[in-house]
Amino acid sequence: MRVEVVTIGDELLLGYTLDSNAAHLARELAGAGVEIVRRSTVGDGPEDIAVAVREALERTGAVITTGGLGPTSDDLTKPSIAAIFGRKMRLDETILAALKARWAKRFPGEFPQSNAQQAMIPEGARILANNHGSAPGIWLEDDRGRWVAMLPGVPREMRGMLADTLLPLVLERAAARGGEPHVVRSRTLRTTGIGESALADMLGEAARLPGGLPLAYLPGWEGTDLRLTARGMPAAGADAALDRAASILREKIGKWVYGEDTADLAATVLDACRARGLTIAVAESCTGGMLGARLTAIAGSSDVVLGGVIAYANQVKVAMLGVRQGTLDTHGAVSEETVREMASGARQRLGSSVAVAITGIAGPGGGTPDKPVGTIWLAVDVDGHVTAKRIQTIGDRDENRRRAAQGALALTLRALGAGA
Ligand code: ATP
Repeated sequence: MRVEVVTIGDELLLGYTLDSNAAHLARELAGAGVEIVRRSTVGDGPEDIAVAVREALERTGAVITTGGLGPTSDDLTKPSIAAIFGRKMRLDETILAALKARWAKRFPGEFPQSNAQQAMIPEGARILANNHGSAPGIWLEDDRGRWVAMLPGVPREMRGMLADTLLPLVLERAAARGGEPHVVRSRTLRTTGIGESALADMLGEAARLPGGLPLAYLPGWEGTDLRLTARGMPAAGADAALDRAASILREKIGKWVYGEDTADLAATVLDACRARGLTIAVAESCTGGMLGARLTAIAGSSDVVLGGVIAYANQVKVAMLGVRQGTLDTHGAVSEETVREMASGARQRLGSSVAVAITGIAGPGGGTPDKPVGTIWLAVDVDGHVTAKRIQTIGDRDENRRRAAQGALALTLRALGAGA
């Protein structure tokens, strides 16, 4: 089945909001065998909305829109699309009652009249329940079976409604046309600590995967993701092809892989610590708490993470972590000797089994010929056994700091003997 997506909102055209709705729709629908053949974005103007939806309907007969369903007066999506189908707007008393009940449960004071506009529905429309917000979605269909589904713009609501109501409805339509749907599915192997070209060299012939499955190298500050994509096959065949291809890749580069798809290296490190009954502490200079934030962002981290020290100034490295003044004077704050003492000091003073330390030059100033911007020293102390590593990052201050935190997590995983 072929579908077009029209995302609506001036803020999308102005670039203040990134169109994550279109990306999410594309991924989810492709995974279910529904092909998005064209995406467009229009502003809030009713004429622009009508033209975009009318043209899309003429091409595919199946259109999904997002945005413009809320209570604010710039939301003119519904009437302009209703007009394409020659339908008038009417007040749906059931929706109005539900909106009022929802309001009364959550807020004090009177129900604002502007909210009632969410209960205005085109005649003959099917309501798509919104279990994640107030504005209901709308399904409009004509007697030729051409349809438009209107979803809210708020991403959380749009995603919920797609999964709960719209996707089953679209799949029902696709099934009615017969034949097993062909899907597009992807699998991502997440690597870190190794460059794109080194991975390509290691993979060599293995990068030519059975069935010609394409392999994309996607480098970023977290590492290089390897994305496999299977298309043009039924779901079970696609999953089996991805399994086969992923295991071929893992045979060659498995030691650099820390997880699949949305895996987070911090979560992988926590799992590795948890499996061994270890606790963790951090000592951070140039990352100023970023590593601690990465670890504590993971739900359930409190059974592993004890805490940390942001030792930005030298006197804090000395007073809080026990780094020797002589080490700082002789080798400098960004050095193997200092980072080792930071890690050991953090482990001893915080009483953890593992401590991870970072010190480096995030930039843009502060670099020297010996230690240019992006020079980062990392160390991990596991029960008194310290491993240190220097990395050189290339980026702006923010990227250098992110790469430093990611590098520290990768070093920790390796020090724990857990791959990547
Ligand atoms: P409401 O008016 O109730 O907020 P709505 O359905 O009218 O919801 P919009 O007003 O168009 O939706 O957008 C609400 C918010 O959702 C926007 O401020 C924006 O942050 C976000 N949003 C809208 N469209 C998109 C999109 N395509 N991708 C990502 N975010 C979006």
